[in-house]
Amino acid sequence: MKRAFLFAIFTLCIATCSIAKQPPGQQSLPRIAIAGIAIESSTFSPAHTEEAAFHAQYGTDLFSRYPFLSKDSPMLNRAIWIPTLGGHALPGGAVTRHAYESLVNKTLDSLKKHLPYDGLYFDIHGAMSVTGLEDPEGDFIERIRKVVGTKTIISTSMDLHGNVSWRLAANTDLITCHRMAPHEDAELTKRRAVENLLNRIESGKGKPLYKAYIAIPILLPGEKTSTRIEPGKSIYAAVEPASTQEGILDAAIWIGYAWADEPRNHAVVMVTGDDEQKVKKTAEQLAKKFWQLRNDFVFVAPTGSLKEALAKALASKVHPYFISDSGDNPTAGGAGDVTWTLTEILKNPAFKKQDGPSLFYASIPSPELVKKAIAAGVGKPVDGYAGAAVDARFAPPVHLSGTVQSIVYGDKDAEVEVVVKVGSVHVIVTKKRKPYHKEIDFTRLGLEPRKADIVVVKIGYLEPELYAMRADWLLALTPGGVDQNIEKLPYKRIKRPMFPLDKNMKDPDLSAKLVPLSDHLK
Ligand SMILES: [Zn+2]
Repeated sequence: MKRAFLFAIFTLCIATCSIAKQPPGQQSLPRIAIAGIAIESSTFSPAHTEEAAFHAQYGTDLFSRYPFLSKDSPMLNRAIWIPTLGGHALPGGAVTRHAYESLVNKTLDSLKKHLPYDGLYFDIHGAMSVTGLEDPEGDFIERIRKVVGTKTIISTSMDLHGNVSWRLAANTDLITCHRMAPHEDAELTKRRAVENLLNRIESGKGKPLYKAYIAIPILLPGEKTSTRIEPGKSIYAAVEPASTQEGILDAAIWIGYAWADEPRNHAVVMVTGDDEQKVKKTAEQLAKKFWQLRNDFVFVAPTGSLKEALAKALASKVHPYFISDSGDNPTAGGAGDVTWTLTEILKNPAFKKQDGPSLFYASIPSPELVKKAIAAGVGKPVDGYAGAAVDARFAPPVHLSGTVQSIVYGDKDAEVEVVVKVGSVHVIVTKKRKPYHKEIDFTRLGLEPRKADIVVVKIGYLEPELYAMRADWLLALTPGGVDQNIEKLPYKRIKRPMFPLDKNMKDPDLSAKLVPLSDHLK
């Protein structure tokens, strides 16, 4: 009995020692915590996000999020890692206060257990909205600071569509964000944040001495700011060379997030380093270039109304013709269940016949219709309603009466996906909402998008695989929680004047402000 007990204690120790305790011979390794949750949430959408949507992971499970911290990676051996809580939700509506407090408190409790820390890697998106709370990421890092103290070096990585408040900038020591949109460099960004943190700790240099911050009064939708085309391309191309200068540690430009209404929603430039003049000058150069080119931002694809998009797609000689149903893009924060576009498509006489032009529609959630389809079975007729459970502002639930083409189980987001053919339209109906970004998202349902005439996706700019597959493409300016025509949004709290909402703005003050170092935080 006693031996079994001792053995259990021994096994437990072996299991935990590798995380929080110093393995023998590694006494000099720094102790680095990992924390942070990520979501982009629209306050112009009636949807709400609960805790489960974050798929939170705890402790060593978090390593699976970071390939550069995989089992055999050299980086893993450079520190004693103390992962706490990490979570990533699909974009959506504002996070409930209860969900936010729960995730934050779990993180803080975990951090308290393993104090002290030489460093902390704060992995966030930066565009989280929480009901009844201003600047959630600023609130979160401030509460982390209160636990870890001011000596710990915090390195933050973000999405370039995140917002950097002064409070966030003051509480972090290192900060960076993506340099590509679409975010093909997502992993590189995180790796850079961790590499910079390790370098500063290992070299004994500690926190960078200067953090320059410039707020730029520009608010643009992501669909105008792709780095694949100008002017986003050259604005962002300047970041890497700026960041590798002597005396500079990192440089970053945030576009900001257009579908929330807080004073922090605007573009920002930040440069960190040890050379005061160079840090300030570099930030000012990047900000100036951004401001000078502001009038050149246009949508990354030709845009038009849905009516125009369908007419062009039907007349097109090349296929597949992609149409972005952009107003309800779930990966920007739309509810993902707006039925307006699908309703219009099904009304169109061109698609009424079974052998009409093939159109794939991705996607519309309806747990009820999925249940009916499962009960009916593949090849059988099904009839029911879909969508508009969350966002019914533009159209009511859409009536679908067709044949079940396929039923697929097991997707992490959708859980169950059903294809219902109505006329010549293949409608993907999901149990829960899911973005369709990859070819396999279609082929696993038995749909071959390359052979379709038209593919309509709730998306903004096409993600890389769809972009590569398109014969032609039009971004339809459809209604929803992330309406691309941001000038129509009822902003009340963002700073004004703001480009492009306020016409004939004077040139703003784009001189760099130095953010106080975190040592001076109370
Ligand atoms: Zn983004």
